[in-house]
Amino acid sequence: MTPFDTIVMVDWSGGHDRGATPKKDAIWVGVSRDGSVEAPIYHRNRQVVEAWLTDLLDAEQAAGRRVLLGFDFPFGYPKGVAEKITGAAGSFPLWDWLEARINDSPKANNRWQVAAEINRMFPGIGPFWGNGTKTDVADLPRKGRERVGHGLPDLRVVEKAAKGTFSVWQLAGAGAVGSQVLMGLPVLARLRRRYVGALSVWPFEAPDAQIVLAEIWPSILNDRVQEICARSGDIRDAVQVRLMAEVFAAVTPDQMTAMLQVTRDKEEGWILGLNHEETLLAANGENKLLPPALKDDCFALPPGVDWTPVPEALERLRAVLHPVVGRETVGLVQALGRVVAKDMLAKRSNPPTANSAVDGYGFAHDATQAGPNILPLVEGRSAAGQAYPGTVPHGHAIRILTGATVPKGVDTVVLEEDCSTDARAVAFNGPVKPRANTRKAGEDVTGGAVILPAGHRLRAPELALLAATGHGKVAVQRRLKVAVISTGDELREAGEEAGIGQIFDANRPMLAAMLEGWGYQVIDLGRQPDDEAAIRAALDAGAEADAILTSGGASAGDEDHISRLLRREGTLSNWRIALKPGRPLALAQWHGVPVFGLPGNPVAALVCALIFARPALSLLSGAGWVEPLRMQVPAGFAKSKKHGRAEYPRARIGADGRVELFKSEGSGRISGLTWADGLVELPFEAQEIAPGDLVTYLPYVGFGVG
Ligand code: AMP
Ligand code: MG
Repeated sequence: MTPFDTIVMVDWSGGHDRGATPKKDAIWVGVSRDGSVEAPIYHRNRQVVEAWLTDLLDAEQAAGRRVLLGFDFPFGYPKGVAEKITGAAGSFPLWDWLEARINDSPKANNRWQVAAEINRMFPGIGPFWGNGTKTDVADLPRKGRERVGHGLPDLRVVEKAAKGTFSVWQLAGAGAVGSQVLMGLPVLARLRRRYVGALSVWPFEAPDAQIVLAEIWPSILNDRVQEICARSGDIRDAVQVRLMAEVFAAVTPDQMTAMLQVTRDKEEGWILGLNHEETLLAANGENKLLPPALKDDCFALPPGVDWTPVPEALERLRAVLHPVVGRETVGLVQALGRVVAKDMLAKRSNPPTANSAVDGYGFAHDATQAGPNILPLVEGRSAAGQAYPGTVPHGHAIRILTGATVPKGVDTVVLEEDCSTDARAVAFNGPVKPRANTRKAGEDVTGGAVILPAGHRLRAPELALLAATGHGKVAVQRRLKVAVISTGDELREAGEEAGIGQIFDANRPMLAAMLEGWGYQVIDLGRQPDDEAAIRAALDAGAEADAILTSGGASAGDEDHISRLLRREGTLSNWRIALKPGRPLALAQWHGVPVFGLPGNPVAALVCALIFARPALSLLSGAGWVEPLRMQVPAGFAKSKKHGRAEYPRARIGADGRVELFKSEGSGRISGLTWADGLVELPFEAQEIAPGDLVTYLPYVGFGVG
């Protein structure tokens, strides 16, 4: 993350008040705080934004936070200009000089007059030109080419280095920046005065103050801006400031230092990030930005809640959790099972050109007729990867193979098996359907289309689609890290010696395997005795994870150490969920990391992991909330179910296509879990189930357990 807590990027405007509705070229501000970007803010005029900025800076300053404040207009004029105007060298005297002369209100301003005044200080005509009004302004030419003999360069050094920049002297016309400078520098002069000692202006001063002002130019990331605008349809200036706030927040401190190290001319200024575009784009792609932390009390249940029905518990979890991982870019092969971090657009169409779907002969359709056709063959052929370079003359045919680009002059292909040929001509029976046996360019995917939305999990077919549309790499969410802890004095490690009264830890291998299957990185924090210090140490070790799954000790009894510890030192909420098997689910945070305290009984641990942990972890991982696969299947059993809780008995589909239940409901029966291929979901309400009634069956495979 950058050394700045807050990044504020301003797209300035040189014109008058544009009214209250967001306009494309009024003032937009992008803000990123602690690595999370806010929606761009629209300001109707310069007076409003100046007041808003000072409020913001006052608050940030009071909170001891560092701010990078960028403006998209030049901070200086070509070398030598400032001294000629003010008599003093450096940019700041000129800022103050302008501040003393520029009058600005939402109704009117005097920028044309001030520009003309400066023009009068130089020989000839110019340097300022451009006039956005109908009336002529004395000493301010309308056209750049009317200027002569003013003796000043049009561009600063940085403008020569940055393609597409405009001259600071041009006051009007599409893309011109001159008015923004005249109307912006007085504001910067006032900010300097207000925050004297706490503010420095880069690159004129060392960028080590609490508030650092810098010149930016969003066009350095023009391609990315266009891509976002095309996809979102958002206002360009809004996209630009948001992107600027995002990229400068995402670079590392070292990268930021490197960018700030530019010690160019102390008078002209420089564009922050120029020549560092790759770094900025990479930082944005990998998005080292971290989403905001979960709220401390996110698991708290409203007071008075007793038994929470399952759907309500899920609703609450869904509402309080959000993605917690950053992004990285990985190669296609490594991307399997990962979650796409941003909308992926096709880099090219698939197929990129019209091609043949069969081996056969191609020609122009309108040269054929019903009945027999005999077309002379051109020499050569079109094969996949070896396109025919020429044009096939009208009335001629060409040998063409599957996947070959359809040559010019060809729109239709007839199957080889339907033709006879003597190598000089090809004969077949008409009529032939126009464009038969050809694939249109882009008929599968058109270049620029969204092929995979952000949040989509990559399976093998998605890798084919990414490859076919030109992607060798893909931006994905960092893999969610999930720590697993088992607790209980009675637990021994599988395969080791176990005495009387001891049992083997069955939950940890099961939970770890499920997590791996869901695409997460498992951190094994072992078995812990029912001892507070040991559990605390394990939870502390889990702080590097994005989430912690524990099993055992989750109720409110004497030996329920996890609950006790989390209640005292973390933020615990014992969710009493109306659920069998399961019931107590301890939800807490340990130093900001969400903890899912599952019951110790393996059957209950599995059910709670599938029903609660799976969708919750999916949400944390950036893949969104997931529902289990639900199938309506006739019951192969009879059951009288009580009102007041949901039940998830172990189940499988028998040879007769009906769903059967495991013979015992005991939640320690691990053999029942393996007998089953899934669960039956019986809702909260009382139910009399007779054989043949439809029940909801949730297969293991639909939970990603297979
Ligand atoms: P607890 O939730 O700690 O009260 O445990 C409930 C039951 O689950 C007890 O019979 C424990 O022995 C058993 N149990 C707890 N953890 C595990 C585990 N990791 N593997 C197998 N059984 C466990
Ligand atoms: Mg226990």
